[in-house]
Amino acid sequence: MYPLRPAHLKPVHVVGGGLSGSEAAWQIARRGMPVVLHEMRPDRSTAVHKSGQFAELVCSNSFRSDDAEGSAIGLLHAEMRRLGSLVMHAADSHKLPAGGALAVDREGFAAAITAVIEGEPLIDIRREEILEPPPDWDSVIIATGPLTSPALAEAIRALTDEAALAFFDAIAPIVHRDSIDFDVAWFQSRYDKAGPGGTGADYVNCPLTRAQYDAFVDALLAGEKIALHDFEATPYFDGCLPIEVMAERGRETLCHGPMKPFGLTNPRQPAEKPYAVVQLRQDNRLGTLFNMVGFQTKLKHGEQARIFRTIPGLEKAEFARLGGLHRNTFLNSPKLLDETLRLKAMPRLRFAGQITGCEGYVESSAIGLLAGRFAAAERLSEQPRLPPPTTAHGALIGHITGGHIETIDAGPRSFQPMNINFGLFPSLASGVARSAKKPAICARALADLEAWLGKAALHAAE
Ligand SMILES: Cc1cc2nc3c(=O)[nH]c(=O)nc-3n(C[C@H](O)[C@H](O)[C@H](O)COP(=O)(O)OP(=O)(O)OC[C@H]3O[C@@H](n4cnc5c(N)ncnc54)[C@H](O)[C@@H]3O)c2cc1C
Repeated sequence: MYPLRPAHLKPVHVVGGGLSGSEAAWQIARRGMPVVLHEMRPDRSTAVHKSGQFAELVCSNSFRSDDAEGSAIGLLHAEMRRLGSLVMHAADSHKLPAGGALAVDREGFAAAITAVIEGEPLIDIRREEILEPPPDWDSVIIATGPLTSPALAEAIRALTDEAALAFFDAIAPIVHRDSIDFDVAWFQSRYDKAGPGGTGADYVNCPLTRAQYDAFVDALLAGEKIALHDFEATPYFDGCLPIEVMAERGRETLCHGPMKPFGLTNPRQPAEKPYAVVQLRQDNRLGTLFNMVGFQTKLKHGEQARIFRTIPGLEKAEFARLGGLHRNTFLNSPKLLDETLRLKAMPRLRFAGQITGCEGYVESSAIGLLAGRFAAAERLSEQPRLPPPTTAHGALIGHITGGHIETIDAGPRSFQPMNINFGLFPSLASGVARSAKKPAICARALADLEAWLGKAALHAAE
């Protein structure tokens, strides 16, 4: 039963009926507000979608781990269920046996979401491509995903600027700081330069001898790579080459490029210059994650973990994210979006899903869920309420709208899409044993979510 809403409420327009757009439309309708959902399929498709169904899964059928006590993605599942997610309800109703993972029957899943959306009287479905949101739409959620149609992408780019919308991600691996061996690695910026906002000791440095460097280059050359899809063409551009492509261009290319040792002194062996150095740069404001500078790669994930753990100091590295290079349309969100996902330059436009810089089916749906709630609150002239940063939803939106740290030196822009992971959560108070940390973060998140929901109910009743 919907709450009673004024009949004159204008609809919120949701563009894109994928994972995030379907969830956003549902969340708005649940609050008793009209929605127009614009989806270009089946008349016009993307390079990877195959049907006209809403929330089509374009590749794997896995929502990853469902463990809400020991995995960040399982925690996100639990929070979404608590927040009345349509996507999670359909996933649970169509799950397949997959051990600790939540795998779904993709046809049943998409058909269930399509049936709910089509059966919802407050959602008006329009099968059309939106080239540009018309000026009289006063509340719009753009949820057009990694393969946003070119015309709309061009319109978004015109609203932002040339560099603010990327068409490929070039992802370097990200390492949890507490898995780096600081008996080997040390903090120092090249030539101790502080740069804007830096301290002169902003990078983690991992030294390699000549023999270690040679073995590393051999491993890169021999490592198994992932082929690009046809629709991805060859996006390489200088300044952003995968490391294995750099290694193919010459054995010494890397030690004159991202692995150059200049301006760095190993405090444990000050008289001996390393032959090469791998640098890692702080990736989030919390200081829990560090990215491997210049290490974008198309190596297979297993190969990345194996090869990068041969780097001194990273033998026990735990990766929050491994590298990749994909066709992916996404915004430089920390710069462009406000904390409720609205385009600062045009607040009637809100973004949701993978285009905001999250990664994955579940994360995209979660951001759709929040965007829908925010748009609905705004329609009622209420202040949208942000989830606490200690929850998985809060951690994810924090990464998108503010948690990431821009590069402190020149180079390609550094914000890249990310899956939910424990490195995005604020640290626990000290004294929690390492083995108890993940369950403690999960328990804190679920308790804080309940408190937030309790306050939201009070707020609505006032
Ligand atoms: C090749 C590929 C493989 C992937 N594999 C996985 C995987 O295995 N696991 C995983 O978790 N994630 C995967 N992803 C990421 C996945 O796309 C996202 O996680 C998820 O689908 C994004 O959800 P979304 O709602 O943001 O976008 P989508 O689900 O892509 O939805 C966007 C919708 O917008 C529509 N649209 C686009 N432009 C317009 C327009 N101008 N007007 C109207 N409608 C429009 C599209 O037709 C589409 O229905 C993959 C992505 C790609 C590209």
